[in-house]
Amino acid sequence: MAIGTCKLCFKEKDLKKSHAIANSIFKRILRPANGKAILLSNGDEKIAYTSDSWAEEQLCGECEGLLSRKYEKYSLEVLRGRRGTIINHPTSDYYQNVQVKELILFFLSIYWRGAHSSHKSYHALNISFSNNMLLREAILNNTNVLLSKYAVRVYKLIDSTGSANDFESKVFKNFIASPYVKNPSVLHSRVTICFAFEGFYIEIIEGGVKFKERSTIGALNANEESMRIKHICLFDIPQLVEIMGKSLDKQRAGHTLIK
Ligand SMILES: [Zn+2]
Repeated sequence: MAIGTCKLCFKEKDLKKSHAIANSIFKRILRPANGKAILLSNGDEKIAYTSDSWAEEQLCGECEGLLSRKYEKYSLEVLRGRRGTIINHPTSDYYQNVQVKELILFFLSIYWRGAHSSHKSYHALNISFSNNMLLREAILNNTNVLLSKYAVRVYKLIDSTGSANDFESKVFKNFIASPYVKNPSVLHSRVTICFAFEGFYIEIIEGGVKFKERSTIGALNANEESMRIKHICLFDIPQLVEIMGKSLDKQRAGHTLIK
């Protein structure tokens, strides 16, 4: 335990080990592999099982409790099909009777915590001073974030090619892809932060979406109690294919610790 300033409430307190990606996600994928998850990254590291859940002391006990009770627990129950009603369609799933605002704040809190983390798995994430203040207020006070500031899209990952081999199938269910940033150009007023876990692929559009785009872009709407999660083929997401391809190359070259 270390004393320091909590990054959420700014109070001087004992800080707890904080997980940007919820510890319960790590636990769930760690369990079937004897406490070890498959981590995919773009770096040169060997593919390895890990029991490192990317934790770091950032928040006080109260704030940590708020995030896990208020956002993580509820959102993971929804995503795991234990809350609300899910109607499955061929190309999407329709979730009813769910508090979409809590899910949005859950995904934004992953990004927010990741951006504050010095763990190497989150090195791609940065946040500006003003956006930090905006997200802090929203997470702490459970308020909406304007779609013109941040928009969140969620997809379910599928393999529509049917070509996944054994290694890929194993990876599909058990991987957490370290967050990366799409189109990180200084000329671009928008950047998209992407990450994946438990078979879902999440995009956070920093810079938000314009009013005209809102009905077409598929962003979650905090004022609604339903959401549509489209299916997306993992092989249609170049960055995930690249991460997976590098992993496959490493696997083929024997640069792996996984049997
Ligand atoms: Zn705090």
